[in-house]
Formats: sequence, C-alpha cells, structure tokens
Amino acid sequence: MFCFQCEQTAHGVGCVDLGVCGKTPDTSAAQDLITFELMKLAVAAEGRPPTAELALTFMEALFTTVTNVSFDADACAGLAQTIAERRLAWTHGQDVVLEAVAEPGALFESATTEGSCRALLVLGLRGMAAYAYHAHVLGHHDPRVDAWLVGGMAQASRSHSVPEWLELLHDFGMVNFACLELLDHANTSCFGDPEPTEVSMRVQPGPFIVVSGHDLHDLSMLLEQCENSGVDVYTHGEMLPAHGYPALRRYSCLKGHFGTAWQNQRKEFSELPGAVLFTTNCLMPPLSGYQDHVFTTAMVAHPGVSHIDADPDGHKDFSRVITRAKELGGWAEPHNFTGINGGSTLTTGFAHHAVLSVADTVVGAIESGQVNHIYLVGGCDGALHGRNYFTQLVESTPADSLVLTLACGKFRFNDLDLGTVGGLPRLLDMGQCNDAYSAVTVAQALAKALGVGINDLPLTIVLSWYEQKAVCVLLSLLALGVKNIRLGPTLPAFVSPGVLEVLASDFGLAPTSTVQNDLVSQ
Ligand code: SF4
Repeated sequence: MFCFQCEQTAHGVGCVDLGVCGKTPDTSAAQDLITFELMKLAVAAEGRPPTAELALTFMEALFTTVTNVSFDADACAGLAQTIAERRLAWTHGQDVVLEAVAEPGALFESATTEGSCRALLVLGLRGMAAYAYHAHVLGHHDPRVDAWLVGGMAQASRSHSVPEWLELLHDFGMVNFACLELLDHANTSCFGDPEPTEVSMRVQPGPFIVVSGHDLHDLSMLLEQCENSGVDVYTHGEMLPAHGYPALRRYSCLKGHFGTAWQNQRKEFSELPGAVLFTTNCLMPPLSGYQDHVFTTAMVAHPGVSHIDADPDGHKDFSRVITRAKELGGWAEPHNFTGINGGSTLTTGFAHHAVLSVADTVVGAIESGQVNHIYLVGGCDGALHGRNYFTQLVESTPADSLVLTLACGKFRFNDLDLGTVGGLPRLLDMGQCNDAYSAVTVAQALAKALGVGINDLPLTIVLSWYEQKAVCVLLSLLALGVKNIRLGPTLPAFVSPGVLEVLASDFGLAPTSTVQNDLVSQ
C-alpha cells in the first residue's frame, strides 16, 4: 500500500505497511481501485451532464475514501466492482485506458509537480464529495458541483502543464466554495440559522447516545426517535455546532456534548456506558472493550461494527442504537466531563448570520480600536505532536483581538475563557469545517464595510489540517485570493517542493512557525 493523504501519514512521507489510522493494505488497495475505476467512469461519462444518480455514485465513492471513514476492505472492493460494472455497461464492455494513470497503484506520486497537483485535485474532490453528500441527504444539489465531481476525476486522470493544473485547482477551489455555500444553505434552510448557545459537558444519569461526525440529517432523525424514549443524546467532535441550530436544539433529549476531538475517542469511549453513532469520518478502529457500543452509518464502516442503513426513502431506523443505549444504562450519577483545559462548558453558534447580525458592533469595535486584530484559527485536530501550538497561540492572542474558530481543532482551546472585547465574546465558534463558508462570508462583509480588500483586513489565518476536507477548504481560500495563510502543524506529504514554491510565492502560504512569530507576522 501507499497512502499519504492525511497529516499523520507515516514518517511524514506515506503509510506503506499499515495505515497509522489503522487502514489495512487490503482496504487501501480497494480504495485505490475505487479511485481508479471512478476515473475510468468519469472519462466514459464525459460530454454529458451527470445524472443525479451518477453524481451520487461519485459522492458516495469519493467520500468512502476519506481518512477514517471506511475500514471495510470487502465493502470497498464491492463498491469498486459496482463502479467498474457500471462503466462496462456504458462502454459495451470496452475498457477505458487512462492517459496518465496506468494502474491503481500509480495514482499518486509525491516527488513530481504533476503527481502533487493530481493528489491535490483528487484529495480535494474527496473532501468536496463529503460536503456534497451532506447537502444531498437534505435534498440540496448544485449542478456545478455534480459536474465537477465527475469532470474533475476525468481531468485528474490526465497530464497537464503546470499552468493548466493551477487553473484546474483554482476552478476546483471556486466550485468547492459553491459546495460549501450549498451545504450552508441546506443546513440553515432545514434547521434554521445557528444561534449562540452554551453547551454543557455534564452527562445526566440514564441511558444515552453519543453522536459523532458531521451529518445533521442523521442527528435530526436520531433526535426524533430518541425524544420521549428515555434515551438522551450528546454530541461529540464535529457535531458540537448542532446545538446552535434552532430545529435541533428544540429536542429536549439533546442534552449536551461529550468528549474532545476525534483522536481521543479510544480513551474517552473506553469506560463509556452509552452507545456511540458515527455519521461521518473520524472513526478510529474501536477497541474491543467498547466495540459493541459502536454503530456506523452512511459510508462509515468497520468490520465487526453494526451498521445502520437507510431505507429506499432515506429514512434510518436507529432503534438498535437506542436499545443498546438502554442496555448500557448510562451513569448512575451526573458525570462531569471537562475540556482539555479544564473548562466544563463550550459555546458555539457564531455562524455568519449570528456574527453579521452584530456587524455594526464588530465594525465599530475595529474602527474605534477596541478590536485591533482578528485571528481565524480553524481546521482539524489530530494526534501527532506539535498541536499544542494551537492552544498556545490562542492563549497568547492579545486581549484586544477576536478569535474566530471552526472544525474540531478548536477542542484544543474552546473550553478556555478568553473574556470579551467590544461587547463580544473573544472566542467565536463558527461551526464545523464546512462552516469555513461562514468565516469567508464574515471576512468579505467586514472588508466591504471597512472599504478594504480581504487581504487588507487586520486578519491572521492559521489553519490546522488533518484530512481531505481541509484540502478542499484550503483550495477554496486560495481560489478566493486569500493570502498569507499559515498551515500546520506540518505540511502535507503530497505537496512537492515545486508546488510549495508556487503556493509560497503566489499566495504567501507558509508553514506555522512559533507562536510569537505567527502572532506578529501578518
Ligand atoms: Fe496513512 Fe493517513 Fe492514509 Fe491512514 S489515511 S493510511 S494514516 S496517510
């Protein structure tokens, strides 16, 4: 196997014997085959707009290959076979020869500019597919996104000059921003605009379910089925921002939040007397002590873990999860959980609508000098050393600055009390990783109100990355012309020195350095 798609890849180069994430060589080979067959299907499908069904195939298959989604080699091999059969039916049994990818094992090579650009595009498409899928289950689609999921894979199977690759990556970044907007619209039109909400980390006595991942539709169906069942629901990881949505928080069974970021799950779930549902990525192979507490749904899968499928109408019956929670019974007394800095409550819900509803206050605070700087510290958390940088950075931000955050990297600091500035809480949690859309929307609105460009704002962007959604978000920020982003804690293995040079010279992209250096260098 060779996989280098995430930040924790072995030795910063690539996983070759076994994934650091736990992905086996069989699963890795099957996921390479999925990608290879998708490229062939994409080439076969070129020249006509994709049907909804074809776009869904690309969403599901690309999403399956995102880090920490599927550990099920048989399911992945079956999916690759289905894609191949579909293509053969279209081409009347003829094979499709890809221009630049000879076989599944030759998909990625990091050393060359071509290999690096192909990796950026394919990995970005994997991330976008996850966002498109979340919008899809809520009934929202964008034909531009659907067309790019297919056409982008066809383009990734070819050779291009460097300027052509840069144009492709720019166009992809723009369409991914449209996808982020689509998902924002899907979430807010179904569940309302998030409102600032304080969330407790105390687990009440009695049976409960912990829900992880990003899929608000799954959470909504689960809450509907848990209401008045005697089983409470707690969010985990990237599901925390769900508490801000009016149509989700109205459920009395949605009690609070359990746990910190995904990489701590094996420790935090080991003594958990509750059921756990994984709706999207961030599953770690469960330890035997709690494996029978765990359920997966959608593309998330692990051998030996119960899976909840949707019926043909998209409805999911979570009664097995609810029954398991009742069997486990929960804690007898209230269980006080704390964040990594000892805080017991978290605040979320500062998406674009909430922040822009007080835009005059923010602009006034900037103009009067009460707020001197804004830090956007967002992205994924991860297990490798060096991530306490993000805690130290936020702790060190000056008292006259705002800190915007999103995604699960915030669990490094979101239980800190940073106080207020200019009548606003200093720490504003904008939501999940896809809520990078909110951050850009707010930055664009502030720039407009202040009569400056987005790069002239007193804004420092520090991104922590782990998996492929961070890749597509980064490509969107670059496509929108956002410059001088700091990226850490390490640079992606799939970015070659040549591509890095372009990103540094054209966009000012730089690795994170020291807290003191990054606080002052804007
Ligand atoms: Fe390694 Fe990351 Fe690939 Fe897992 S997803 S095999 S940890 S590079």
